[in-house]
Amino acid sequence: MAILRGACQCRKIEVSFETAMPVDDIPLRACGCSFCRGHGAKTVADPEGRLTIAAQRDAFDRFQFGMRTADYIICRTCGTYVAAVISNGGQERATLNAAGTRLEQVWDRSTQPVRYDRENAEQRRARRLAHWTPSEIVERLVEAGVG
Ligand SMILES: [Zn+2]
Repeated sequence: MAILRGACQCRKIEVSFETAMPVDDIPLRACGCSFCRGHGAKTVADPEGRLTIAAQRDAFDRFQFGMRTADYIICRTCGTYVAAVISNGGQERATLNAAGTRLEQVWDRSTQPVRYDRENAEQRRARRLAHWTPSEIVERLVEAGVG
């Protein structure tokens, strides 16, 4: 397993992405919706992996739009789009914005364009549950001597 780390611009939200994919082959996707294009998002997910989002209390907002099928985690301080998260029976899955979180080793690479605008809400949810990464958001304590 590789563990890749990243953070938003102000570093109040840190991420760690565990994956069994060879790091050189990890694909990044560029979704064609206006939200993702506006943020320059490059997303990464691995249904066999694990994503941990560690954030200080109140560090982020949850934004919804369109069919409101996911929460978009946005840093309150620097405005970075960090990840999109869906809940399913108490479990969460997410797609990580590797560009926004400057995910080490991979965030600068080129992307595969994807478009999901023909999906209905049910198809969208099923795709995400099948392809997104099991995830959790944990509270991160401020390091001693900082803040
Ligand atoms: Zn931030």
